[in-house]
Amino acid sequence: MQKKELLYEGKGKKLYTTDDKELLISEFKDDLTAFNAQKKGNEKGKGELNCKISTQLFNLLTKEGVQTHLVKTLDDNSQLVKKVSIIPIEVVVRNIATGSLTKRLGIKEGTVLPLTLVEFYYKDDALGDPLINDEHCLVLNIVKNRADLQKLRELGTKINDILKPFFADRDLKLVDFKVEFGVDKDGNILLADEISPDSCRFWDATTNEKLDKDRFRQGIGEVKVAYEEVLKRILKA
Ligand code: UDP
Repeated sequence: MQKKELLYEGKGKKLYTTDDKELLISEFKDDLTAFNAQKKGNEKGKGELNCKISTQLFNLLTKEGVQTHLVKTLDDNSQLVKKVSIIPIEVVVRNIATGSLTKRLGIKEGTVLPLTLVEFYYKDDALGDPLINDEHCLVLNIVKNRADLQKLRELGTKINDILKPFFADRDLKLVDFKVEFGVDKDGNILLADEISPDSCRFWDATTNEKLDKDRFRQGIGEVKVAYEEVLKRILKA
C-alpha cells in the first residue's frame, strides 16, 4: 500500500491517504511534546517503539473482542488503519491517582483508587483539553446520545480490564491511560489512535520507576530506554 497525501499531522503521528479511500497509513513520529506542546523534544527510534507497542496491544485487544481501526503493520513505524471519524473526546481511565487528578482533587499521589475511574476530556488544544461531563458532550453535540457515552465508558473499562492484568503479569502497574475512538463508515465505534508509553503511565511494580512519557515531561531521563523495557516486557514469552 502506497502513501499518498499527508492528511493530518498530530503530535505523535502523521496520517496519509492511500489508494483505498477507506484506508489510511498512520506513521509514528519520533517527536515528544508536553504541556500542550510547549515543551518539545525528539528521540530517534521512539516512533518505532510506539508503533510496535501499540500494535501488540491493539492485537491483544482485538483477540479479546475490542474492535479497533488497525488493519496491519506495514513496517517498523507505520500501520495501515481504517479511516474513521474521530470522536473528539479523550477517554482517560485511571487506577492510581497522579497527574491532573491529584492537582484537581487533592487526592494523594499514588493512591490506589477504589474503582476504575473513567473521565472525558474535550479534545481541543486551544481550550487545553478541558474535563467535561456527559451533558457537556451533548451540549457540544460531539456524540449522538447518552448511549454512545455509556459505550465509551464501557469500552474504556473493558480495555482497562484486559490491559491491567496483562501488565501486572509483566511487573508493570498500569497507572492510567488515554484512548480515542472513531466511527467507521458503518457507524461502528472503533478504538483508534494509539496505546503506548506516550499515552499511558507505566510504573515498575517493584520500584515505581516511571517507564513512560513522564520521564520527558519531568526531565527524569531518556524515554527510549524505558519504552524498550516496556516492549521487552510486553513480548515476554
Ligand atoms: N494523556 C494523553 N494525552 C493528553 C492528556 C493525557 O495521552 O493530551 C494521558 C496521560 O499520558 C496519562 C493520562 O492520559 O496517562 C492522564 O493524564 P492526566 O490527566 O493526569 O494529565 P497530565 O498530568 O498527563 O497532564
